[in-house]
Amino acid sequence: MSHFERSHWVDFARGLLSAGERTQMERHLSEGCRDCMSELAFFERVAHAGAGVREVIAPEDIVMLARNIFPLKPKQKPLLQRLVARLVYDSFADLAPVGVRSGKALSRQLMYEVEDYLVDLRLEGERDSMLVSIVGQVANRRVPASRMVDQNIRIVSGKSVLRQTRSNGFGEFCLDYSPKRNAKLLISLPEGERHVEVSLNRLVEEHPAS
Ligand SMILES: [Zn+2]
Repeated sequence: MSHFERSHWVDFARGLLSAGERTQMERHLSEGCRDCMSELAFFERVAHAGAGVREVIAPEDIVMLARNIFPLKPKQKPLLQRLVARLVYDSFADLAPVGVRSGKALSRQLMYEVEDYLVDLRLEGERDSMLVSIVGQVANRRVPASRMVDQNIRIVSGKSVLRQTRSNGFGEFCLDYSPKRNAKLLISLPEGERHVEVSLNRLVEEHPAS
């Protein structure tokens, strides 16, 4: 997807474009480009603020100011935004629980989603061991799998990091983990300011050995 220049979105927000240009750019937005949507949203706020203080500061000055400060914006947001994923599939809900849980090995698949992100977890564990191995994959419906390469994957409990790894070229990762209450799987995202959060409480509640 090729994007429009920042200056185009400034002009769009200020209503300075021809109908033809405007239509083209609206089409780009309607295709779901989040980058351009957030650029436009930002400049619309700037244009709106400019309209309110037109007597004091010319909008052009504000727009110049916005152009100057915009590249610094990500650094001004130290807090990571957590996207809390919800469970959409649990193989334990499908299978006869007694059959699965009385066997020696435990095998289970869980799937979570939030926004366009899908997290697939396959769990393997021995019945007499507390250790569960998690083979996971994170994918985004809109961007190719290659974009999810080398993301930081952590299991945390409170402020402590229990396990840590990175995703491979397919967005896959592998972790051994001894289930703990209130543990979360955190997956960093390519845009850098957000991560996906998956609660691992289901493993504690339904782990046969606990
Ligand atoms: Zn775009």
